[in-house]
Amino acid sequence: PEPRVGHAPERSEALFARARAVTPGGVNSPVRAFRSVGGSPRFIERASGAYLTDADGNDLIDYIGSWGPMILGHNHPDVRAAITDALAGGTSFGAPGWREVDLAELIVRVTGVGKVRFVNSGTEATMSALRLARGFTGRDYIVKFRGNYHGHADGLLVEAGSGLITNADGLGASAPSSAGVPQAYAQLTLVSEYNDADALDELMRERGHEIAAIIFEPVIGNAGVIVPTPAFLAALHRAREGGTLLIADEVMTGFRLARNGATERLGLHPDLICWGKIIGGGLPVGAYGGRADVMDFVSPQGPVYQAGTLSGNPLAMAAGLATLRALDADPDVYTRLDAYTSRLADGLRAAADATGVPVTVQHIGSMLTVFFLDAATLPHGEVRSYADAANADTAAFARWFQALLARGVYWAPSQFESIFVSAAHGDAELERTLEAARAAFAEVKA
Ligand code: PMP
Repeated sequence: PEPRVGHAPERSEALFARARAVTPGGVNSPVRAFRSVGGSPRFIERASGAYLTDADGNDLIDYIGSWGPMILGHNHPDVRAAITDALAGGTSFGAPGWREVDLAELIVRVTGVGKVRFVNSGTEATMSALRLARGFTGRDYIVKFRGNYHGHADGLLVEAGSGLITNADGLGASAPSSAGVPQAYAQLTLVSEYNDADALDELMRERGHEIAAIIFEPVIGNAGVIVPTPAFLAALHRAREGGTLLIADEVMTGFRLARNGATERLGLHPDLICWGKIIGGGLPVGAYGGRADVMDFVSPQGPVYQAGTLSGNPLAMAAGLATLRALDADPDVYTRLDAYTSRLADGLRAAADATGVPVTVQHIGSMLTVFFLDAATLPHGEVRSYADAANADTAAFARWFQALLARGVYWAPSQFESIFVSAAHGDAELERTLEAARAAFAEVKA
């Protein structure tokens, strides 16, 4: 059946008004509030395959995929069946169960890490991996990159991306991105520029002996899609020589850019990897894993404490297992995801060109961003850093976003985010998206 669109978002607006009265900003995670694009966020009633249905009965082609987890599409029958099966046996035991072992074995087999520990979010994964790196090395400092987002743990809210770019009033040099992060704590986080190999080499020469870990997005999603240069990746790996641990934050890219994420796709050799999103199949799961000698520092085996009442929850493990097994059983799922995304990128560029709107479309695997800026004005002819991305015309983006939404296409509601394509996106969705995009570019131009 044809998707239904064009219903005024009256119920969404009424729900948002009620939500604002009882929840800060009316949402439980900032980017959902549509602050940078204006208007009321759509409240979602249900989802299936490539579509969301909002509270007013509009069917929207979904390019957010719950910000990454729904790589198989929404409400996948295998995932639903696995959750239902787990549910019949009770929801939480506070004691180990077989699903945790199955999922850990699968992750170890696919990713080659020595050991893995489950937590409940990406934030917990990165926070725990950093504590582990500090405990293992006996060093206090960490390095992150400007515009990268690793969740909302104190030490990582320094020059951070994602909602921090969208909602903050600007980033100060080496300053916390959030109120409530003590300066003394933020000072333990050294910030370097993404894709600047020389800056990282210099920082490591001067301070390397004090640095426990470098954490990085192996492809940035949280400032829009930015791909690392080979020279930058080489500098990251050089940094390990002095004993600094390299932590790949694959919360977004893990099981998305390839079976073994960016690690496989870009040929990385991290000491630790953080996951989230896809490994929970739409339920709350995060994980961190890596070298067995490092992971053995985690409690109860080692001295680095980390725990969780609901960690390894049977429903969450069931959803993750079903998702990873479905990906594992589909040998060309990543080829299809890449092909859809490449066709989407080509179509968007053609549509923008035809209407004379300057955009820079960047994509890798099933991640894509349309930057509203002219690549010819950038030092390298492409977006390579947060500083490049910051030149984007966010007002033009907002108009484009609203024009798409009015036509039933639910894009990420911020210029500084990636969109996520799912295996449920097919020819019909591509065609409808490009038709809407052509009209939306024309509206931006008008
Ligand atoms: N790391 C990265 C790269 C992320 O994109 C995110 C969330 N978008 C996180 C960490 C934090 O994950 P969570 O929202 O599950 O805490």
